[in-house]
Amino acid sequence: MKHRRGINLRPDDYSRIVFDRPATFETVPEWYVLRAVCSRCGRSGGVDRRALERRFGSTKQLEEIRLKLRCRNCGNVGTNEWVMTKAAR
Ligand SMILES: [Zn+2]
Repeated sequence: MKHRRGINLRPDDYSRIVFDRPATFETVPEWYVLRAVCSRCGRSGGVDRRALERRFGSTKQLEEIRLKLRCRNCGNVGTNEWVMTKAAR
């Protein structure tokens, strides 16, 4: 699924394209807004990265968290994707 604005993150892309280290809350700059997109129904929802960071810790890899994302619409888990956009500054 392509998104007009934003980087559609697939697991391999994290370090290759966007960052030179595994993406964690520590390595992803604060001005990147995280959204999660359901691979089954296409629902896209904003994610409160501060809340996730508190829950999982700042060094938890986003790929690990991705596997735990649950779609609020259809309940799909495990294959949902991150989409990262730069917040307007
Ligand atoms: Zn869904």
